[in-house]
Amino acid sequence: MKPAILWDFDGTLATRPGHWSQAMLEVLDDHAPGHGVSREDLRATLRGGFPWHRPYEPHPHLDDPERWWAEVGRTLAAGFAQVGYARDAALLVASFREQFCDPTGWVVFDDTVPSLESLREAGLRHVIVSNHMPELPDLVDALGIGSYVDAVICSASFGHEKPHPAIYQAAVEATDGAAQLMVGDNPVADVQGALDVGLDAVLVRRRDDRFRWFDDLAGLTASLLQG
Ligand SMILES: [Mg+2]
Repeated sequence: MKPAILWDFDGTLATRPGHWSQAMLEVLDDHAPGHGVSREDLRATLRGGFPWHRPYEPHPHLDDPERWWAEVGRTLAAGFAQVGYARDAALLVASFREQFCDPTGWVVFDDTVPSLESLREAGLRHVIVSNHMPELPDLVDALGIGSYVDAVICSASFGHEKPHPAIYQAAVEATDGAAQLMVGDNPVADVQGALDVGLDAVLVRRRDDRFRWFDDLAGLTASLLQG
């Protein structure tokens, strides 16, 4: 069995600039031009409102996209309400979902595809392990990464968020025990979570001297190919 690398998605392989609050702002810009609400106002409404903010509360009941979005939609609707759009909140949440799932809003980092490609040529498989929305597998395909990836394990459908050990154990099983290394930009969810179940792990795109880190995937890949 070929060895496998586990990858975080958001902030590691790709990103949506400005994340959830920026997408909320874009929805408001369309709906109510000149609204005067800032991204910071919106960001403040989201704190603690997502399943990954409660990683030790499994949520198998949200394994259907409609149920997942209904739950997260409550956070978003409360956010829109807090900035003065309570009456239109349901409509804004529906627009938000469409906007956030639209691949054109996402950016794949320049070193992502070259890294996935050269590591695959060197005999490694790739599995994404992500705290994300249910549509992540479609997004991965639409962004042109899907052909490099053997599996996508997404917390929304799996029911556990990183760093819960269950999601890492599922990833290890998905690779028939061949998972060797977790790569991600979050010291807790990605690095400590993986270390806690006995995997090797590196932090990327962020420095934290408690862990092994690389500034980018190009540097990580060069190091892995040398090793
Ligand atoms: Mg991340």
